[in-house]
Amino acid sequence: MSDCLFCKIAAGEIPADIVFEDEQVVVFRDIYPKADVHLLLIPRQHIASLNELEPAHDALIAHMMRLLPKLARDQGLDDGYRTIVNTGPSGGQEIFHLHLHLLGGGRLPGFG
Ligand code: AMP
Repeated sequence: MSDCLFCKIAAGEIPADIVFEDEQVVVFRDIYPKADVHLLLIPRQHIASLNELEPAHDALIAHMMRLLPKLARDQGLDDGYRTIVNTGPSGGQEIFHLHLHLLGGGRLPGFG
């Protein structure tokens, strides 16, 4: 999508602190980190949110989920980490290109 920020990062048109990439995904540091480690894992393909997922995306989503423990290990998050997917305006989604937040480093606050 031509005016999508994360599509532009995936295409290398906008700089980002990329920590991992392959043919399907790009992983970069969040520009406003909410924890010592705060990564964003995005598919190269433009998918607006979880709501747009279809069966054809199943292998991609499995790849993304299975990548998370490797990314966490590579960042030294041996004691645990948090993953978040915000969906829609009421879910706090600001960028409408699917992304998984990976947060860690120290003890994260609880939800309660
Ligand atoms: P969300 O609220 O789930 O849509 O998350 C969007 C995230 O993208 C926020 O945590 C922002 O800090 C982050 N963000 C926005 N612009 C950039 C950028 N240019 N590079 C890296 N992260 C960004």
